[in-house]
Amino acid sequence: MNDKTTKKMSLSGKILIGMVVGLAVGIIARLLGLTSNMDISNPLYPATVYDQTVTMGLFQVLGSWFIRSLQMLVVPLVFVSLVCGTCNLADPAKLGRLGGKTIIFYLVTTAIAISIALFTAVILEPGSSANFSAKAYEAKEAPTLVTTLINLIPTNPLNAMVTGKMLQIIVFALLFGIAIALTPGKSSERMVQFFNDLNEIIMKLVTLLMNLAPYGVFALIAKLTTQLGLDVFESLGKYFLVVLGVLLIHGFLVYPTLLKFLARVNPITFLKKMRPAQLFAFSTASSNATLPVTMEVVTKRLGVAPSTASFTLPLGATINMDGTAIMQGVATVFISQIYHIDLTMGQYLTVILAATMASVGTAGVPGVGLITLAMVLGQVGLPVEGIAIIMTVDRLLDMVRTAINVTGDSVVSCIVGRSEGELDLSVFNDPNAGIEFEEVHLQHAKDS
Ligand code: ASP
Repeated sequence: MNDKTTKKMSLSGKILIGMVVGLAVGIIARLLGLTSNMDISNPLYPATVYDQTVTMGLFQVLGSWFIRSLQMLVVPLVFVSLVCGTCNLADPAKLGRLGGKTIIFYLVTTAIAISIALFTAVILEPGSSANFSAKAYEAKEAPTLVTTLINLIPTNPLNAMVTGKMLQIIVFALLFGIAIALTPGKSSERMVQFFNDLNEIIMKLVTLLMNLAPYGVFALIAKLTTQLGLDVFESLGKYFLVVLGVLLIHGFLVYPTLLKFLARVNPITFLKKMRPAQLFAFSTASSNATLPVTMEVVTKRLGVAPSTASFTLPLGATINMDGTAIMQGVATVFISQIYHIDLTMGQYLTVILAATMASVGTAGVPGVGLITLAMVLGQVGLPVEGIAIIMTVDRLLDMVRTAINVTGDSVVSCIVGRSEGELDLSVFNDPNAGIEFEEVHLQHAKDS
């Protein structure tokens, strides 16, 4: 007779294995000469550029399936969960308070991030000894603040959903949810029920897809390893290390301090539970694609009420990019140093303001931080061609900064949740809370 015992391994454990195996396979493929000549410094990778070689194409297909399946969920998830969150809010004044607090925290944390970045880069001077010949870089147009503000209101909400305009979807969902809450009687009760049911189904889909993550991550990392040209790190090593260092300081020092004092919770518990979302963000380099996972982690593992999380997290994935601001701060100082252009105190302040705004305008997809960097450089009159130089190491930094971006969204979600009495401490402190979505059951047959 066979007696079956169930052995469980956490999802983050499986994703880590996927990463390591992906790295090993990528290195072997490189050694065998199966490298790809694709230009991964293209900011639009991997959305529009496809590899033609068969071996690499296989990884590309698997990796793209993984990212696309996450992206597939973003628009329905944001719309449905936000409508749910707002129509379940008993007190409409709360929405204004929640919105105000969230936006202020997002802007302040971004400003702190960029200030640390500027300070560190000025002290460590990553670009002082570098000598680069200027390359041509054609700046893409970054959105101005006025355009971002005007475009908050969609002229056609369906078009906003079809084209994935996140801020417009958020605005429409909020208004729609408020209207449901204000409509008296049976019709609104039916709608509330409908959206609650729909929300549950979408979250189920998220859980199902997350179980495939280790394979998706494997393919993404294997592909990336075959593409990275490691020689560029020699000349850009200092820049790379300064960005990385500040990202880690922000993630492991600033955020824990904020959590400790503002949310009054244990930062170690937070960081442990955030791991799956960070690993997703790292492998996809997209806050948007990671959103379904962030929602699961923040509501089920960290105990933030869905009505708060469904508002703070989609907003954060769209406007809060602390990691991106850090890269832009260091990049600005680096570019000023390699071109031997001194920045004044006033210009540093302009950089803080511009990078905070650029973070609002940066979409949560791979590589966009580099595009909006053009706007920051333009504000202080630095040559945008400098972007061509740092572009070569940006892909890896993009992965790390996206993990920080996502962590920042979740930190603010916890702080706002706590201040609204919507952070369930029994869930937060329970190491096993919501663990079932993170578990993959492995059946081991054992002879009895
Ligand atoms: N990849 C980043 C994100 O999705 C944005 C960026 O900095 O390019 O959060």
